[in-house]
Amino acid sequence: MVSRVIPVDQFDLVIFGGTGDLARRKILPGLFRRFCAGQMPPDARIIGAARSDLDSAGYRQMIREAIAEFGGEQACGDEQLDAFLAQLEYVTIDALGEAGWSELQKLMEGSDRIEAYYFSVAPSLFGDIAERLQKWGMADTRARIVVEKPFGRDLETARALNKTLATYFNEDQIYRIDHYLGKETVQNLMAVRFGNMLFEPLWNSQYVDHIQITVAETVGVGGRGEYYDKSGAMRDMVQNHLMQLLCLIAMEPPARFDPDAVRDEKLKVIRALDPVLAHHIVRGQYQAEPCNEAENPGYRTAVDNPRSRTESFIALRTEISNWRWAGTPFYLRTGKRMAARSSEITVVFKDTPHSIFGDEAGSHRNVLSIRLQPNEGITLGVTIKEPGPGGMRLIDVPLDMSFAETLDPEDIEHVDAYERLIMDVIRGNQTLFMRGDEVEAAWAWTDPIINGWVTRNDVPKPYDHGTTGPTDAEDMIRRDGRKWRKITQ
Ligand code: NAP
Repeated sequence: MVSRVIPVDQFDLVIFGGTGDLARRKILPGLFRRFCAGQMPPDARIIGAARSDLDSAGYRQMIREAIAEFGGEQACGDEQLDAFLAQLEYVTIDALGEAGWSELQKLMEGSDRIEAYYFSVAPSLFGDIAERLQKWGMADTRARIVVEKPFGRDLETARALNKTLATYFNEDQIYRIDHYLGKETVQNLMAVRFGNMLFEPLWNSQYVDHIQITVAETVGVGGRGEYYDKSGAMRDMVQNHLMQLLCLIAMEPPARFDPDAVRDEKLKVIRALDPVLAHHIVRGQYQAEPCNEAENPGYRTAVDNPRSRTESFIALRTEISNWRWAGTPFYLRTGKRMAARSSEITVVFKDTPHSIFGDEAGSHRNVLSIRLQPNEGITLGVTIKEPGPGGMRLIDVPLDMSFAETLDPEDIEHVDAYERLIMDVIRGNQTLFMRGDEVEAAWAWTDPIINGWVTRNDVPKPYDHGTTGPTDAEDMIRRDGRKWRKITQ
């Protein structure tokens, strides 16, 4: 098996915020890897745009350093790097003023290539950039815009932003990024569900006991304290990333693998989500690492807000009120400073209706676990007889489908979520991007939960550094006679 790289058409990609953290850490190194893989046409142009007073040579030097720092092991040699950097240009521009816009317009004039504009800036600038793109004649039907998260902070602001963007662009020109959707295993989840006969007949409340989605991080808020404290785990992770995973695991098979067919099905899932009851949600805030407070301070110190009530951890239980899932709990959990870095979706199947092996064989359940990071892969736990003499004792063993081990490493092309998604933008494929109504529906479900905390003056429970969150989260699922999956690296 040889991986296929299909070059994309000629394009110009303007990155507003081209000097920022995301551009330097993810977008440009990702594009360089696509260049190395032969996917980027040699004449494609990448134009960094920000206020910093740089010329193109200065920008190329900045990106050379960024690729050296963040380019990863797939970076492909100095000659290639020089050739890639030669495709970069820079415009000094102010999203809030008029400076630089005529220069950008001149650069973009007269081309018949695909034009993409990546809004890698603070969300408060999205509307201004969209407006100026139109004013300077760059918002024609060839243009695509890529919008970073967060997309609003509640339903009202998301609606307002959708409305603003819709003033200048059609929905099929707007690419709202959720980089979780660009992960290999997330797409594999769809392949496993809809490319096999094996799972789909069992994929419902009759056979599935419950589903867990965990996204655990070991890092704290780091340098993002000010932003994070206004956001919290619900807005930063649950409303977007965990919600998208929930949709993909729970949605009906779309008729085709095309953008609107997939997004229609995801939207139906979000709209069918039950409200979350107060006793089905636990919020937490991490404490300092004992004896290492200077390096790993507690949440409130890290965000410099001693009275903060923002959560760095959430565990919740919800249900989906439709024919497929009624009565099946979905447990979602995410947090910072947890025991291990691990993102995993687990489908726990029900017990067999009757055990022919008697009580001593114990209770055994099939568990399908889909691991997003680290060690992407899918494991199906099956029950077998414990080898050896001494009667019929049952054990659970994993049928492991670790992509790295099963497929020839030479043949696997490791594509970071951002590089895959940017190439999808150029190809004009919106399947892995959120539609405006999807984002609004997700906020419509999230808002009452957040408003409930405000009304109740809810204070997050403290939890120790390097754990699985507050003990209340364990109690919540234990009350249902279930337990969380272990968080392991
Ligand atoms: P950042 O490091 O603060 O960069 C912001 C960029 O915007 C800089 O290039 C800045 O350059 C430019 N900028 C600021 N004001 C401007 C103006 N008036 N006109 C033109 N350019 C302006 O932010 P970031 O971390 O890269 O994040 C960018 C976006 O991605 C945000 O929406 C963020 O929420 C989202 N995001 C980031 C990450 C991440 O890992 N960093 C992850 C997910 C989502 P100048 O100062 O030179 O103008």
